[in-house]
Amino acid sequence: MSQVSEKLAIEGGRPVRTEMLPYARQQIGERDIDAVVEVLRSDWLTTGPKVEQFEAALAEIAGTAEAVAVSNGTTALLAAMHALEVGPGDEVIVPAITFAASANCVAWFGATPIPADVETGSLLLDPDGVQAEITSNSKAIIAVDYAGNVCDYDRLNSIAEKHGLAIVDDASHCLGGSRRGRPVGSLARLSTFSFHPVKHVAGGEGGAVTTDDAGLANRMRRFRDHGRDASSGCMVELGLNGRMSDIHCALAISQHSQLQRSISRRRKIAAYYDRAFAEMPEIDTLTVEPDVSHARHLYVVAFDLEKLRADRDRVLNALRSEGIGATVHYMPFHLQDYYRKRFGTSEGDCPVAEQAGKRILSLPMFPGMSDGDVEDVIAAVHKVIEAYRR
Ligand SMILES: *Cc1c(COP(=O)(O)O)cnc(C)c1O
Repeated sequence: MSQVSEKLAIEGGRPVRTEMLPYARQQIGERDIDAVVEVLRSDWLTTGPKVEQFEAALAEIAGTAEAVAVSNGTTALLAAMHALEVGPGDEVIVPAITFAASANCVAWFGATPIPADVETGSLLLDPDGVQAEITSNSKAIIAVDYAGNVCDYDRLNSIAEKHGLAIVDDASHCLGGSRRGRPVGSLARLSTFSFHPVKHVAGGEGGAVTTDDAGLANRMRRFRDHGRDASSGCMVELGLNGRMSDIHCALAISQHSQLQRSISRRRKIAAYYDRAFAEMPEIDTLTVEPDVSHARHLYVVAFDLEKLRADRDRVLNALRSEGIGATVHYMPFHLQDYYRKRFGTSEGDCPVAEQAGKRILSLPMFPGMSDGDVEDVIAAVHKVIEAYRR
């Protein structure tokens, strides 16, 4: 009864789509454009009233006393490391599966990023993995709310407290998420965000750190202004230009006002995918705890390679030939050349992350996708799996 599978586009067949569907795309409307034009006609292009207005909006959604806007998500992580006085001799624990910037920020301050393993089902930082990496040199833990899911901060905070460590939540994927009713942004000592166009709030470029600690916020404000003290104007420590401009903040404010609508569309798309992939034994979707409100930045699937005659990269290329802009988030950072050479990390350090790194792929996920786009993705996945099934 076996059906003859359709010829894959990568082998010369007809693609599911002729125009490539990207994995993410910003959604900019007339309101966003008007908001930016208004700034262009005003007295301020960079640090003006829009920065404070955006910081207030962020502090509100994060449920924190402070929000500090900076030039991008990478600068937000650097500002967090600066505020915590991370430096040479210190170790900072970082989940193996994350964007390079989550580990690079540690290396920039002359400290050592220590890769910690992730949980099998969710690929979130594993509290047991953190525990295993703590030494007398440990200074902080960077947790990453991977894909928009939220880490177990109850357990992470109790480990951190026991050892006197600070937790930084790299929440670049998770603006608008929550766990046990508590908003992301308020779950760690410091939480960092990115407003890159693929993220929930597209500011062009932009980033922020939220915290309840006024002292740390103050240090981060100095860091983004060359190390100058706001009241005296004196340079009291080493900083840089980490400003987010009024132009970017105006766009981000306008985008932020549409956040709930955009997250609810993302959740509908995720539910659509979940239903389709539940029937496919070759595909595992990531697990989510019931007390998490997932922000759905990425839709990640993991292939059961034993059931396929192709590896992940072959599946990825086949999908791309079908017009589906699938991509990988992420190859474990400790396997990147720089980390191997500089810190001597290698295969075997984080087995769960390394296995996952060979199996995962992110499918298109952005609020502007139509139902037809979602159906194209599902059709292409079916077609490719059908062709490579053992
Ligand atoms: C996007 C991202 C960053 C960096 O943000 P930029 O604004 O691009 O500098 C850092 N960490 C994670 C997990 C990200 O996804």
